[in-house]
Amino acid sequence: SYSYDEECDYLFKAVMIGDSGVGKSNLLSRFAKDEFRFDSKPTIGVEFAYRNIKIADKIIKAQIWDTAGQERFRAITSSYYRGALGALLVYDITRRATFGNIKKWLKELREYSNSHMIIVLVGNKSDLSKNREVQEEEGKELAETEGLYFMETSALENLNVQDAFLQMFSKILENTV
Ligand code: GDP
Ligand code: MG
Repeated sequence: SYSYDEECDYLFKAVMIGDSGVGKSNLLSRFAKDEFRFDSKPTIGVEFAYRNIKIADKIIKAQIWDTAGQERFRAITSSYYRGALGALLVYDITRRATFGNIKKWLKELREYSNSHMIIVLVGNKSDLSKNREVQEEEGKELAETEGLYFMETSALENLNVQDAFLQMFSKILENTV
């Protein structure tokens, strides 16, 4: 409610990033609304979701921006990243190419955002392990090399989704206070 918002201690912006089809929008809707869609929802313009979360004794208004297909054309603008303190950098464990592109996304993130940004590398669709093309160990290694946090998730089965977002926001909070 309005009065609850008034009482929030911090407003933190974070962004979803990664190739088209990796599950960014479903991770966000799982986190913000506990919803999942089997189709990919085409949207126009940038969308974002809010959720109030409590970490330690602080109420944080989490504002998370989602791309609306611009990632397909690598046409994400600097305003998307502006002011973001965290990012969920997502690939699909069943599509090797989406993992291969992580370094390109990382380069763009580092170009447009501040150096203290908290980045969580997310290998999504862990429920499809029989079609796995990227080993969990590879994700871990890349994260270590690049100084990122790491988690495998399933938006479909709601595995580690809350953890991925909460880890990001609690690290942002640690950096802030
Ligand atoms: P985006 O383009 O990165 O936003 O990806 P979407 O969230 O639109 O998801 C793309 C497709 O992958 C949709 O058909 C989703 O239903 C599906 N998807 C998303 N997350 C998962 C997941 O964790 N497991 C499975 N099996 N499918 C998923
Ligand atoms: Mg999307």
